[in-house]
Amino acid sequence: MNPIPVNTPLLSGNELKYLTECIETGWISSEGPFISKFEANFSSYVDRKFGIAVSNGSAALDIAIKALNIGSGDEVIMPTFTIISPAQSVVTAGAIPVLIDCELESWNMDVSQIEAKITSKTKAILVVHIYGLPVDMDPILDLCKKHKLFLIEDAAEMHGQTYKDQKCGSFGDISIFSFYPNKHITTGEGGMLVCNDENLAERCKKLRNLAFEPNGRRFVHEEIGWNYRMTNMQAALGLAQLEKIDFHIQRKREIGLKYLNGLKNIQGFSLPVSKKDFAENIYWIFGLVAESEELMLQTVEKLTENKIGTRPFFWCMHEQPVFLKMGLFKNESYPNAEKIARNGFYVPSGLGLKDEEIDRVIEVLKS
Ligand SMILES: *Cc1c(COP(=O)(O)O)cnc(C)c1O
Repeated sequence: MNPIPVNTPLLSGNELKYLTECIETGWISSEGPFISKFEANFSSYVDRKFGIAVSNGSAALDIAIKALNIGSGDEVIMPTFTIISPAQSVVTAGAIPVLIDCELESWNMDVSQIEAKITSKTKAILVVHIYGLPVDMDPILDLCKKHKLFLIEDAAEMHGQTYKDQKCGSFGDISIFSFYPNKHITTGEGGMLVCNDENLAERCKKLRNLAFEPNGRRFVHEEIGWNYRMTNMQAALGLAQLEKIDFHIQRKREIGLKYLNGLKNIQGFSLPVSKKDFAENIYWIFGLVAESEELMLQTVEKLTENKIGTRPFFWCMHEQPVFLKMGLFKNESYPNAEKIARNGFYVPSGLGLKDEEIDRVIEVLKS
């Protein structure tokens, strides 16, 4: 019985050719020519004017928060059900995450709960599209306009996904992507900020590069930044991956639909929603939510016995020990998010997954 890892990337295009070019030309640092090509091609793919490649998606979020001058005392509205990256960026900037529960069906932030949480300190809404379906953007765009708030879009799981035919990642004042190996395209580690405002793009570029002043004397700094640069080798991978993105998305949808079809009569679990009126699921991961935590744990144990990789769902931000220790989110509770965080898990969903492997996962789940 061969193990089925929870993720296997697919590197089936020009990856080796472009990487070889890096080695043969000696261009391995962030100064190499693949960086600007990857930035231009990816930002244009998601319908943005500017792309700033960085070392990972979490780094992109740090830069986004700082570039928009969000800091001490400012409030940022965001979902409690998410990876820690966006919350961590807000907190380390000295700002305060204000949390919203998720919908039980789509697992995305319940946008109807946002307006009640807007205060005079609110600076931005940070949208995180979760697991395959986009957040309902129209109400959020209206709120941002009405209350003059920035929109930050974490589209790390949404390459190529659309909301009403408009690309995810094209909505935020700044939007970000990750290219970790389980995302729709990968650079090993990597990320990108995208936006349409030239000044904002320049500021992001500066923050990624230790805040070197673009026109000042080298090594004299007016503010603190980071070294969050991407290497030419990562961009080489990214460029090759981007050439195949349409196929990657099609394959992800095929995998999702194959699971959905194979599991449609399963009892005790809820499955991903295949479409909303504004989008068709892209199945970044294929998640299941068991009706009890006990059933979730038993199922994961069985899958593990059968050498099938799984991951639990994200853990809510308002239940993170690190934030509670900081005095954040005291006595807050978000029932939907708490339920899916406890009862949800996902099965192998990577692009390298073979049909026979999906069949085996389905069989074990059914049994
Ligand atoms: C993967 C992911 C990130 C972080 O990206 P890294 O490149 O791993 O730092 C941020 N937000 C979301 C929603 C993600 O899925």
